[in-house]
Amino acid sequence: MHTHKGIPVSPGIAIAPAFVLDPDRLRVSRRPVPEKRVPAELKALEDALAASIAEVEELRRGTEDILGAELAKIFSFHLGMLADPHLTGQFRHAIERDHVNAAYAVYAVLKRLADTFLNHKDRYFRERVSDIYDLQRRILGHLTGGVDGGLASIEHPCVLIARDLTPSQTAALDKSKVRALATDYGGRTSHTAILAHALGIPAIVGLEDATRRINTGDPLIVDGHRGFLVADPDAAQLLEYRQEIEHIQDLATQRRALRDLPAQTRDGTDIELHGNIEFPTEIAEALDNGAQGIGLYRTEFLYLASDHEPSEDEQYEAYRQAIRNLDGKPLTIRTLDLGADKLTHSGLAGEDHDERNPFLGCRSIRLCLQNLPMFKTQLRAILRASAEGPVRIMFPLISQIMELRQAKMVLGDVREDLEEEGVAVAANIPVGMMIEVPSAALQARSFADEVDFFSIGTNDLIQYTLAVDRGNERIASLYSAAHPALIGLLKEVIRTADRTDTTVSLCGEMAGQPEFTMLLLGLGLRRFSMTPPAIPEVKSVIRAVSVEQCRRLARKVAGLDTDREVLNYLRDELGRIMPDAFDGRSIGY
Ligand code: PEP
Ligand code: MG
Repeated sequence: MHTHKGIPVSPGIAIAPAFVLDPDRLRVSRRPVPEKRVPAELKALEDALAASIAEVEELRRGTEDILGAELAKIFSFHLGMLADPHLTGQFRHAIERDHVNAAYAVYAVLKRLADTFLNHKDRYFRERVSDIYDLQRRILGHLTGGVDGGLASIEHPCVLIARDLTPSQTAALDKSKVRALATDYGGRTSHTAILAHALGIPAIVGLEDATRRINTGDPLIVDGHRGFLVADPDAAQLLEYRQEIEHIQDLATQRRALRDLPAQTRDGTDIELHGNIEFPTEIAEALDNGAQGIGLYRTEFLYLASDHEPSEDEQYEAYRQAIRNLDGKPLTIRTLDLGADKLTHSGLAGEDHDERNPFLGCRSIRLCLQNLPMFKTQLRAILRASAEGPVRIMFPLISQIMELRQAKMVLGDVREDLEEEGVAVAANIPVGMMIEVPSAALQARSFADEVDFFSIGTNDLIQYTLAVDRGNERIASLYSAAHPALIGLLKEVIRTADRTDTTVSLCGEMAGQPEFTMLLLGLGLRRFSMTPPAIPEVKSVIRAVSVEQCRRLARKVAGLDTDREVLNYLRDELGRIMPDAFDGRSIGY
């Protein structure tokens, strides 16, 4: 039995044998072509290009129907390459000048391009290598009649293991056969991750060498909640995970029963539970889980899934769709949180892909304030959409009062412009900020005078408070929401919000982890926003406890010195209150 740890990007558990996608690249032989055969090779090339364009267009349309227009844009790179006269000119040139077969011309030109991209200093180009190989495979498939990489040969349910999967491969996966996927490469915001999550396929990326260590047929467990890939599991582990699958299925049944029950403590305090989303298409799932609104819409995914900067109209359409899907429930739109690990594919003006310390660099609101046309475009789209239903605007990564004032000033300017143009905009739009930098938490009293609401982003607040990179595997054990320093900051922010009548919510992953629910209630939190599948679990904890009981628990936690002690205590308490429902693990991630 071996356990490999990767980055969990799509939750769920699967137990199935491995199918390792042939990692060896294609090899195509070079055939000399006599002069008189050159036109026939050129004609074969044109036919293959046209067939590839039609195929990718078809995939794009299919993806758009199922997953929406934003996700479908990931095929723009392929279509752009196929339509690029410089690239297709190189294929023709090789056939005419070198007298080689069309298949070899395509193979060699794209291989050269992939090698150049692979060695590029810019990560955007390095990440496109798999797209180039995808395109190569597709065109060659039409030229040589079937050199598909093996996905078509999957016959039985499996865990798909690959170096990397291209967007088109991921979008075309047959869910009845591919129960989960695990890749050597990729990060949280890679296209594969975005698509796997949207398709509901459990997935782990960033495993580094899974294709080398695992063979087709090896029995596997994929734990998409925690990022574990277990090879050759023993009987005890299989039993444990089978029980967990049953547990998750039971939770899904309970979820339906819980959906319409109020999130109310035993002593009658109402708690608001909202969902976090990346795409408007996720709203249905959030509502299905009982979300009372969307507390965090990560709009940067609109940019991440696109190969160009989305226009004002494209953004307006996405926000309008989200508002309509919510049918009167509130939508908190967070302005762009790009930069650091969330880089666009087109490289926006001001977005430096090679910053030395990107999490402390020009990310998020800083990037927007240095790129006003982009920021204003988004704010215009949000304000226009606000006429359609209840919207709240939230600025991320605020670390200074002046930054917030500047952002609000830009918002005011955009509103004035729209009003002058006679465009309808909602009159009173609540404006808030994320509290995810210690300076903002420590200055919450001053910020409270300037905003309508706070949303505490613990994912970043933990990394900045503890100086622990949230994405670095080697120090993952130091990254803890149970650290007393973090809990101290949360306590102060919630207390300040309470005293100043500022609405406060918490939208980091901690909000969806049931072991923290009682502590957060005890600290005075009354609004949570979380990954939608976690809502029912958190709701059942809320319904099982009283506020007084949670306050006592929070007082006890205040006397503990280490995150270990805190976590053990919280898990013990949760186990005491709900012995049957939980095993101390969260179903969200
Ligand atoms: C956070 O930092 O807690 C947060 C919710 O934002 P993100 O995870 O998008 O950085
Ligand atoms: Mg954040």
